[in-house]
Amino acid sequence: MQNLVLEPQILSNSFSKIQTSGKIFHNLSPAELVEHALARKEGSLTSTGAFMADTGSFTGRSPKDRYIVSNELTENSVWWGDINIPISEEYFERILQKMVKYLEDKDLYTRDSFAGADTDYRMNLRVINTWAWHNLFCNNMFLRPNQEELKEFEPDFTIICAPGFEADPQEDGVKNPNFAIINLSKRMILIGGTGYAGEMKKGIFSVLNFILPYQKNVLSMHCSANLGEDGDTAIFFGLSGTGKTTLSADPKRYLIGDDEHGWTENSVFNFEGGCYAKVIDLSREKEPEIFDAIKFGAIVENTRFKKGTREIDFTDKSVTENTRTAYPIHHISNAVEPSIAGVPKNIFFLTADAFGVIPPISKLNKSQAMYHFISGYTAKVAGTEMGITEPKLTFSACFGAAFLPLHPTAYAKLFGEKMEKNEVNVWLINTGWTGGPYGIGSRMKLAYTRAMISAALEGKLDFAPFAKDPIFGFEVPKICPNVPSEVLSPRKTWNDPEGYDKQAKELALAFVKNFEKFREYASEDILSGAPKVS
Ligand code: ATP
Ligand code: MN
Repeated sequence: MQNLVLEPQILSNSFSKIQTSGKIFHNLSPAELVEHALARKEGSLTSTGAFMADTGSFTGRSPKDRYIVSNELTENSVWWGDINIPISEEYFERILQKMVKYLEDKDLYTRDSFAGADTDYRMNLRVINTWAWHNLFCNNMFLRPNQEELKEFEPDFTIICAPGFEADPQEDGVKNPNFAIINLSKRMILIGGTGYAGEMKKGIFSVLNFILPYQKNVLSMHCSANLGEDGDTAIFFGLSGTGKTTLSADPKRYLIGDDEHGWTENSVFNFEGGCYAKVIDLSREKEPEIFDAIKFGAIVENTRFKKGTREIDFTDKSVTENTRTAYPIHHISNAVEPSIAGVPKNIFFLTADAFGVIPPISKLNKSQAMYHFISGYTAKVAGTEMGITEPKLTFSACFGAAFLPLHPTAYAKLFGEKMEKNEVNVWLINTGWTGGPYGIGSRMKLAYTRAMISAALEGKLDFAPFAKDPIFGFEVPKICPNVPSEVLSPRKTWNDPEGYDKQAKELALAFVKNFEKFREYASEDILSGAPKVS
């Protein structure tokens, strides 16, 4: 029998004290965390040096189990509904106390991190994990303070993530044992019953989506961003799986960030310090930057090995379609650090249209840009959210409604102001289906999408002939370097053009129907960006 050395330590913020008879490992380096994670059998080492872990029964976020505490601060500011589900302070306190009790004898991995590359808008995070690899995830995904910055570190926000702790739906005011609860006034996020690490990252994103627009007049955005040689910033909005991460990793441009950014008076800045990329069917040939980022320090989630080796089998979907890697941004060789750049010159709205209707690239005028920003059309594809196995038509306001605590019009208003003030080109990119709907057509070739985006960024479409889409009204280029012309016009890719017309009309009607709830907030100008359909 070994005697356990008890090291009672206290972690506290002004609202809770966490005391454990276990050990507290604070700010361990990636190498130490990997050692711990291996010793604790949390996963295994892959041939590239990356750490491979399973997230457990949750292989994606669980949006229906995400709550915001309803209190004085949030009661009249948060847009309550299916996305922002209220929970009371009493239930929050009860779950917090239960978690504190649960942690009493656990080894804890804690870490101090930043969210927000711009020091004017930075938030100090303290993360408390029970899994070592989760703490490595936070090291990779949040910004890493230097030694000097750690000395006087005071947390603004605390995340407690304990996958092994389950709530009791009978008495804790939650629907299920798993939960993510954001308390904006006590400045805490509690996560339990799920090992999906993305809940921590998207929890903080939701917090920033409250604080920045509401309290600081900064537009927070669900987008990736990169920078050209000439200092031109491009941002890529899009829902999960539409290509933000994939398309922002461009060898000809510098990466600012792959998922969450703020747009201030004069800059775009990354909230994060790393990337969280899908790896299903990843190949070095198609996505070399991401492939090569999967080295020591990186994490791969829910992947499997090729038989008899330690090589990752990126084709293996046996656990989930939503296999992922999380790596610090410096694993991408041409990343900008600190991740800040000027205001955007080009904005891309990425949509994975499962109906094969939206042209692969088109140019939007200001009204259309506003209309499509508010609409946020895509098809949800298998993976990131639990329960989605085939593409499903979705409108998600501002291309990120799931993470927006405020009413979408709050973000749309800021977006509109930015559009007025700055000269920007807005492009709609369909990274989804061509040649027919899902089931008949096929996904747009990544090489074509890349070529279209490059052409737009390099000004090569400036003098191309365009044709107006008869229903949606946007301008569609007839030619584009390195893309066969017939691909540019979706109707021509269908075997049955009447089928296309019917499908296009249906999609346009879905837009109109979805926009009904925003009509009262939208000006005539914005409404003129709607598709024309009767
Ligand atoms: P999330 O918000 O979940 O991080 P995301 O917008 O970053 O999602 P990606 O991780 O870039 O999405 O996923 C896009 C996936 O689609 C990748 O696996 C990519 O290889 C694949 N893909 C296939 N065809 C295309 C295309 N034409 N354009 C972009 N991505 C494509
Ligand atoms: Mn991404």
